[in-house]
Amino acid sequence: MKYYGADVVFPVASPAIKKGIVAMDDHGVVKGVFNPGEIDEAQVEYFKGALIPGFINAHCHLELSHMAGVIAQKTGLPKFLEAVMDGRELNQSNVEQAMLDADKTMYDNGIQAVGDHVNSAVTAQVKEASPIAYHTFVEVMALNKDDVVKRIDNAKEIEFHFDYKHSSITPHAPYSSSKYLFKSLKKAISEDNIISIHNQESDEENKLFRYKKGEFLEFYKKIAYNFDEFKAQARNSLQSFLPYIPAKNKLILVHNTYTSIKDLDFVDRMGRDVFFCFCPKANLYIEDRLPKIENFMLGKYNIILGTDSLASNDTLDILEELKVLHNEYNHLDFQETIKWATLNGAKALNLDHELGSLEEGKKPGLVLLEGMETFKLDEKVKVRRIR
Ligand SMILES: [Zn+2]
Repeated sequence: MKYYGADVVFPVASPAIKKGIVAMDDHGVVKGVFNPGEIDEAQVEYFKGALIPGFINAHCHLELSHMAGVIAQKTGLPKFLEAVMDGRELNQSNVEQAMLDADKTMYDNGIQAVGDHVNSAVTAQVKEASPIAYHTFVEVMALNKDDVVKRIDNAKEIEFHFDYKHSSITPHAPYSSSKYLFKSLKKAISEDNIISIHNQESDEENKLFRYKKGEFLEFYKKIAYNFDEFKAQARNSLQSFLPYIPAKNKLILVHNTYTSIKDLDFVDRMGRDVFFCFCPKANLYIEDRLPKIENFMLGKYNIILGTDSLASNDTLDILEELKVLHNEYNHLDFQETIKWATLNGAKALNLDHELGSLEEGKKPGLVLLEGMETFKLDEKVKVRRIR
């Protein structure tokens, strides 16, 4: 048994403890969290800072790791997508090493589990050998009716390469899915298939659904997609596609940068299990804008955090995402946001039986936030993995 003490311990599922102590066995299983004085001091290894469970990065694309620094910033989403399509074939010799490096970086940055989106099986080996727990989301994109069956079959073939308990099939984004795809997916997946869809990452997506206007029309021209059949919906994208998502499946909506209060009211009326995933640094990289976090907090929605990929971020580090949020919204309470970064993400990925909080019997990893002596997160705080 090892005892770890720090200025403050955040068990996450219970209130923070000043000068708290975490007991872990040789396998990293939590055996208890204690108040000062409950454990003989001579047995305790003390750290300056805060101890937390390992982070959960709920949204990433490991297979794009070789695109670090390739794509221009702040161009808006449609131009970003074009650049990814043009650029993902570059640096092919570097793909394997870039994924290995990204995986190691995430582990060193205290990340215990990752929700990772794929379009191929190229990440399978890295994930199998990694100490990180991955849930793989195989993306399906199909705008043309004739492509739908073929694309779903292809996704099922790719899913076969990943741990079947921790993988699922998901539509990629509203602008890359047709109603035919949504209808066919509903039949093709089971109720335990977690869905994770990019949502309202750009206002162009809302313009497309609302008015059939904007930059996505140019994007479709570039990919030679005939969009004639689509009718303007006179409402935002989320309100247009949500009714097509099977009601019982757990749903992660990723980004939500342009999700309005009306959209949230619409989600409420659907009465379904939804997690809102924010990737603040990627939003700044692509759109130079952050989601309206307060709206989601007022409604007490389940919030989770992701880094997105190195194509739209210069770090894979959940602490850095937290810093951006705390810097922008300085009234945020770390006791709340640490839940977004850990336990909520574990719940979204069905990993909370083992990860996301310092609770007896779990094996959540142990991470030190060096320099965090109070409940306030500032720029100087650094992440260091202890277990
Ligand atoms: Zn993404």
